Amino acid sequence: MRILLISPRGPLYRHRTGIMKKSLRYAPLTLTTLAALVPAELNAEVTMLDEGIEAIDLDLAADLVAISCITGTALRAYELADQFRRRGIPVVLGGVHPTLLPDEAQLHGDAVVVGYAEESWPELLCDFAAGRLKPRYTQRPGFTLAGLTPPRRELLHPGNYTMFHTVEATRGCVHKCDFCVVPTAWGGPYLRPVQEVVDEIRRLETRRLIFLDLNLISEREYAGELFAALIPLRLTWGGLATIGIASDAELLDLAARSGCRGLLLGFESLCHESLLETRKGMNTRKDYHEVVRQLHDRDIAIMGCFAFGFDHDTRDSFADTVDFVLNAGIDLPRYAILTPFPATPLFQRLKSEGRILTENWDLYDAQHVVFRPEQMTPEELLRGTELAWKRTYSYPSIVRRLLKARTQLAAAIPANLGYRFYANNLSRFYTCREALL
Ligand code: SF4
Repeated sequence: MRILLISPRGPLYRHRTGIMKKSLRYAPLTLTTLAALVPAELNAEVTMLDEGIEAIDLDLAADLVAISCITGTALRAYELADQFRRRGIPVVLGGVHPTLLPDEAQLHGDAVVVGYAEESWPELLCDFAAGRLKPRYTQRPGFTLAGLTPPRRELLHPGNYTMFHTVEATRGCVHKCDFCVVPTAWGGPYLRPVQEVVDEIRRLETRRLIFLDLNLISEREYAGELFAALIPLRLTWGGLATIGIASDAELLDLAARSGCRGLLLGFESLCHESLLETRKGMNTRKDYHEVVRQLHDRDIAIMGCFAFGFDHDTRDSFADTVDFVLNAGIDLPRYAILTPFPATPLFQRLKSEGRILTENWDLYDAQHVVFRPEQMTPEELLRGTELAWKRTYSYPSIVRRLLKARTQLAAAIPANLGYRFYANNLSRFYTCREALL
């Protein structure tokens, strides 16, 4: 059996035509995990195609194609699925978007996988081999990460990724931010036994890695146990957390001692009301300057994420946020346009208020405006965000931020130059907006 696994990309990140350079990519785990889950008795030949780094040959021979997509890549996934199906090749669709909207995905796939695929994907493959493929495979209750099959990383080319060694310790998240797909699609958190994580890292024989977990500190006790177990491995690692880590000196010390040198943190907004509105109340009691100080004191660089477009945001929000980012010395800031992903509470609210402007999923990439903001026009939201990117990544701003941060400069300087390129090329990807606004 020949199985083709595909990760499609939206226009922003597609190979050659997208903005992001290859150098900013981490090796994904989805396809390598799916490859590892193929039952050995099927003697399958597995090919993986990541459209972020290579073009997809639609003439490739396959008996079964499986495509994993997010909302921003769903239309591309459907386009690819339709083309393979026209050649008579059955297609399976999975990932977060088909999990959120399985009935829509079903229109383009012979089978849809809803939820995590650890159990359903091997079952689906055995059914396919026996000629009894079902249209829908849904994650069963009681899902656990214990005994996870290690991803088949040998199927990836290390030279295609700036960070080849990626690992996951947890999935899902304990919080319920109203714009986030995680609580709607998967809930969680799901925790891997710490010893299994440590064993996998030892097998990788590396000292540098990235945790792809959506929120490493979802469960405080687990995070402490994990960080303590990492200390003897003498790693340098980065990952994602919430800003709550800055108020927990013991946990932050453990993270630093275990080799944490960079964290992606969702600040989201400077506005108290916006944080409450989006159910990110855990950020409201935090002094953001102090958060930055606590991490920098431990030599941990910050990728700080902010979103624009909350109902309480005004035209001043852009400048206020950039001022904060420059004054605080955030190492690598990122701005998103608030995006109501389908089936999330935010989408449902905006839909009921008649404020969703388009359900063209290509534009659901967090850099286009897909809903009517409360206190500005869609065009102002788009332009304000683009200007925030440009101001943040002007050369004087980069120098000012990094001089203040003085943290992990060997990595922060090239990363800033990469994001400067991104900021200055965003407008090339706003071509669809005239149809939208
Ligand atoms: S903390 Fe992060 S991962 Fe968790 S629900 Fe909020 S946005 Fe999603």
